[in-house]
Order: sequence, then structure tokens, then C-alpha cells
Amino acid sequence: MNPARKPLIAGNWKMFHGGPSGVTLAGENVKIAVACPGVEIVIAPPYTALAACAAECHGTAVGIAAQNVHAKDKGAYTGEISASMLVESGCTWVILGHSERRAQFRESDEMVAEKLEAAMHARLWPIVCVGETLEQREAGETLRVIRLQVDAVAPLLLQFGGPVAIAYEPVWAIGTGKNASPRDAEEVHAAIRGWLAAIDSGFAARMRILYGGSVKPDNAMSLLACPNVDGALVGGASLDAASFGAIARAAQDLTAR
Ligand code: PEP
Repeated sequence: MNPARKPLIAGNWKMFHGGPSGVTLAGENVKIAVACPGVEIVIAPPYTALAACAAECHGTAVGIAAQNVHAKDKGAYTGEISASMLVESGCTWVILGHSERRAQFRESDEMVAEKLEAAMHARLWPIVCVGETLEQREAGETLRVIRLQVDAVAPLLLQFGGPVAIAYEPVWAIGTGKNASPRDAEEVHAAIRGWLAAIDSGFAARMRILYGGSVKPDNAMSLLACPNVDGALVGGASLDAASFGAIARAAQDLTAR
């Protein structure tokens, strides 16, 4: 971490806790945020729990994110939710281009960029996910693939002028229990910041680049200690307040060093 950037710890609840249990978990996150004032806490409940979790977290430091958004603002798109609707539901953030959406719902870089534009018009802060598959890593293509994903969104992120974030999430590390080593994560994070610096050095210096992929209490400190890792996007461990709280505390402890 770099003291110039406030660490961001975001919990992606995926398709869990869509009802009253989500509100309880949101309340636990309020306590985590109070205990970790040097860390920004964001939670991403399923759509069905967004408004209730936003009400539970109203007036606290916990930000609410959606896990996806449709690129259009309104229209005949059965089953979809627009950026302005997310804002109405109490969201201030949105996760874009998660690898599960890229793989299972065929989201391309172009679609991610369109969603990013929609988020920008609604003033919804994006966490844009990028990452390579195992085959791509083994073929030595990691940086080439991630560069394409970053290039697709970097000009729009530059225009945002707010607390935007990129999450580096190696696909092979998500939900598998196999995290990237701190060295491998730092290599990719530093490369991303370098590409952003070629566009605008201030933009690159401000950008929070999160690591995601099997972050747990026992590996959080070593990953977050890397100079270009500015937080974490946490899946499985965010479903348990004790584990998520321990990850946030690792970030808080690093800010105090
Ligand atoms: C994620 O879903 O973004 C994620 C990183 O999941 P996990 O922490 O479970 O690997």
C-alpha cells in the first residue's frame, strides 16, 4: 500500500445474502468500518438486498455497490437494471467486468466500456475487474491480456474524475483458494499503474488498484503490503463478517505503519 491512497476493501457477495441475512451482514460491516477508519469499506449485495442494505448503512462510512449494470438507462430490457435505478436503490459504486460475467455472460471489453459509460453518466463509481485465465498465464500472455482490458476502459476512467478503482483478479485465483503470490500481484499492479501513467501521471498516482482472488485473513497482510496494491476485492471471505473484518483490519494496521 502507499499512504497517498486510502485502502479500499470491497466485498462481492455474489448470489448470497439477498434477503434479511444481507441486512444483518451489512450491519456487521458498519461495525467493521467504525473499527477501521483508515480503510474504505464497500459491500456489493445482490440486487434484491441493495435498498435494504443501503438503508442499514445510511449515514455510515460503508459504501454500497451493485455487482453489474445494464448499459442502457431505460427501455425494453426484461430482467435488467440501469445505472440510475442503482443510484435510486442507494448504490454509490458498481463492479464492472467481473470474470464471472465475462465468462458466463459473454461480456466483452466493449460491453464493459459501455457499462462504464452508463455508470459515469449516473455518477456511480466503478470497480473495473481485469484478469487473465490460467491458460493465458501459462502461455506467458498475462500482461498482454490485461493491457487490452485496461486499454478498453482507461480513457473513460480518466474522464470520471472521482474515486474509481481497478481490480486485478486472476481468473484462476477466484474462488479456488489459490491466491496470486504477492510478487506476481505486484508485478501486474505495477504494470497497470505504468500504463495509466503513460496517459496521465496524476491519474495513475490516484488510481486504487485492488487485488482479488482468494483473499483471506491469512494472506491479506502480505498482499496488501505490496506498494501498488491499494486494497482488495473479496468474494468468499466477505460472506463472513469475522473474516472480512480481519482483512479490513490488516489494511488498517498497514495504514498505521
Ligand atoms: C471475487 O468474486 O471477486 C473474488 C475475488 O472471489 P474470492 O475472494 O472468493 O476468490
